[in-house]
Amino acid sequence: MSIKKVAVIGAGTMGSGIAGQVANAGIEVWLLDLPGDDNPNALAERGLERLHDPNQPGLISKEAESFIHLGNTRDDFDQLADCDWVAEAVVERLDIKKDLYQRLDAVCHANAIITSNTSTIPIRLLVEDMPGPFRRRFAITHFFNPVRFMRLLELVRGENTDDAVIELLADFCEQQLGKGVVRCLDTPGFLGNRVGVFAIQCALQAAFELGLNPLEADAIFGRPMGIPKTGVFGLYDLIGIDLMSDVVQSLVNILPESDPFHAEAARIPLMAQMIANGQTGNKQGQGFYRDAESGREVLNLDSSEYHDAPRLNLPIADKAERQGVKHLLDDDNLYGQFAWRVLSRTLSYAASLIPEVGDDPVGIDDAMKLGYNWIKGPFELIDEIGADAFIAKLGADQLPIPEFLAEAAGSSFYRVENNKLQARRHGDIWQAIERPAGVIRFNEKRQTLQPRNSCTVASWFDLDGIALVEFHSKANALDADSMAILDDALIQVEAEGLRGLIVHNDAQHFSCGVNLQAVRNFFLQEDMDGLDRFLQDFQNTVHRMQTASFPVVAAPVGLSIGGGFEVVLHARQVICHANSVTGLVESLVGVVPGGGGCKETLYRWIELLQCGDDISDACWKAFMNLGYGKTATSPIIAKRQAMLRPHDRFVINRDRILGEAIKAIDDASGQVPFERPSLSMPGRPLFEEMVKWLEDSRDKGVFMPHDVNVGSEMARIVTGGDIEPGTVWKEQDFYDAERRSFLTLVATAATRERINSMLDAGAPVRN
Ligand code: NAD
Repeated sequence: MSIKKVAVIGAGTMGSGIAGQVANAGIEVWLLDLPGDDNPNALAERGLERLHDPNQPGLISKEAESFIHLGNTRDDFDQLADCDWVAEAVVERLDIKKDLYQRLDAVCHANAIITSNTSTIPIRLLVEDMPGPFRRRFAITHFFNPVRFMRLLELVRGENTDDAVIELLADFCEQQLGKGVVRCLDTPGFLGNRVGVFAIQCALQAAFELGLNPLEADAIFGRPMGIPKTGVFGLYDLIGIDLMSDVVQSLVNILPESDPFHAEAARIPLMAQMIANGQTGNKQGQGFYRDAESGREVLNLDSSEYHDAPRLNLPIADKAERQGVKHLLDDDNLYGQFAWRVLSRTLSYAASLIPEVGDDPVGIDDAMKLGYNWIKGPFELIDEIGADAFIAKLGADQLPIPEFLAEAAGSSFYRVENNKLQARRHGDIWQAIERPAGVIRFNEKRQTLQPRNSCTVASWFDLDGIALVEFHSKANALDADSMAILDDALIQVEAEGLRGLIVHNDAQHFSCGVNLQAVRNFFLQEDMDGLDRFLQDFQNTVHRMQTASFPVVAAPVGLSIGGGFEVVLHARQVICHANSVTGLVESLVGVVPGGGGCKETLYRWIELLQCGDDISDACWKAFMNLGYGKTATSPIIAKRQAMLRPHDRFVINRDRILGEAIKAIDDASGQVPFERPSLSMPGRPLFEEMVKWLEDSRDKGVFMPHDVNVGSEMARIVTGGDIEPGTVWKEQDFYDAERRSFLTLVATAATRERINSMLDAGAPVRN
């Protein structure tokens, strides 16, 4: 059996997200909610609207919407008769879910799979009134919010669920919906929320106990621990302080009294007060943080008043972010104490759950990485700290040492043996980590490889005869060293006859662009020649990618913007993730793309619009893309924006990108080196027209004064600038023009102000 038609019941936060992801996979889906009074489908329609949230679009393209059919549970229930999978995502009420299952049993076909998205209700209770055949095809598919973007799917089987049902769901959710499927036992909170909510609560309680303010706590319980920078207070605001309190309460209700979670769930009076005051977080515009006209403000936990929230630079946090989590424990100051309190309890708690929730650390680590966006899972963090060091520190504080942790004494939770990554299992047994065929996580693969060349910001590896270049600086920002590694790999592939080159990494984001601090260093020293040389080297390297005699594939995930996207633009083929975000956003910081980005934007628009001799339309399109710093939130949109080319492809499961990239190296059809042809440039008239448009827009108050300067430089590059129409430009002329404009702008005070503000305040000024 295969899943060809799906229904989702309940069009709230989760149901609409699940339906959206099914539609993204190109599969028909009915989305039903309760009938409305005036408009029977009003609730389902609202569900669809949710998918159009511009900040977090649930659909990868407009076309995906055509796969979604809206309805209600009164008029459209018979649509379920030929659905192969019905995903229930109604409110978390056992009675409502049970009633629904009775109705579903009466209408669904005998092989239809039924699943619940419940976070807290055990399967045993959900199906206690249902007949045997229903129980055999029933499971929990626990998606995370937002469904399109969160990779984790917890798949929970009941006592009676058929193996075939679990296998079909696992394959479907992994391959078609792109999820990282973690199989769980039916234990409270499964894996992600059990550990994730514990960690959040632990950080919250520790901050209140130790008297840290939200800024300080979030500066530690964030990037330095490999956790998203929202931290704990920011996350509370994001989810909603009221909703988060309900989640905590629901875990309190289902966990046994002996569970350490209860100690971390104690009510905090200030938070009850905040909920009563409507300070529930981002949705109300105020929580622990709020945005004021003068900038971001933070709540003083003692006085309950808001104050400016300056960017906090804690040396201990910076060191840990760069050199590893164990450095948070170097110091016994307040921040070190906070970090230890959170890490000691959270990591021990995770270890104490083995074997209750499973036999090995992989499920919990995967759940935290895929469901909470942690860079490392709890057991990987213990390995980084060192199991012995961790155990010794627990012992020194007279804290309990769980049995599974004690088993790792003198050893670790993961190791490489016979070139395979293995995980420790309960009972001192090691087992190789097996992933579904076609899934390769480079974070795991890397542990079995030695880099051929490496520096602090990038490395390249020989991956079975293919060079794999990995950026690994903070936010994967690019500097001269990262580009030198890429250059070296390109040269060696040629010299050694390797099969090709892939640029890829398994981080949250491929690359946020050129390291602005490196640019600032150049202008602080007024070293414009040095900056020009850096840009020239960057251009030479990407040009080498574009014209290589061997296959070159860029396989980006997450954000590839600015210089990061310029690297992508010069690969002979791009295999990216369905959620990849791409764009050249240099205008925000007052510069032009200087690594071939303007050039490629223009040539790609010429190709897309199939311009003949007159390339004016393409010049305008390129000017708009660059000037507005446009980004595309999916590869489908990127193709429409001429950011990707027709033979570039995307993959819905990011764990399959590397495997697909390897295939694309071996089947390089459609990949050709692309020297760009010479162009007859529109020159002065079009350049002047664009500048006038910029000035008019500024006069109308649409643009700031420096936007005109930056836009004019972009216009100069894409039209040729102050030259006679028909002047012929070669590819090199574009590279030269980009560098000239880049240097011109960096020489201005306004661009320097934008760069300084980005680096120091985290956001560019509008000037
Ligand atoms: P929600 O309140 O946003 O949406 C629930 C929807 O169910 C509403 O639109 C409601 O009208 C509809 N509904 C209620 N009774 C119905 C019925 N009899 N028939 C059809 N529709 C009905 O809730 P949600 O956050 O989407 O949660 C749905 C489920 O997913 C719950 O079981 C919840 O525990 C679980 N869950 C939620 C999250 C989350 O982050 N929100 C994450 C994972 C799992």
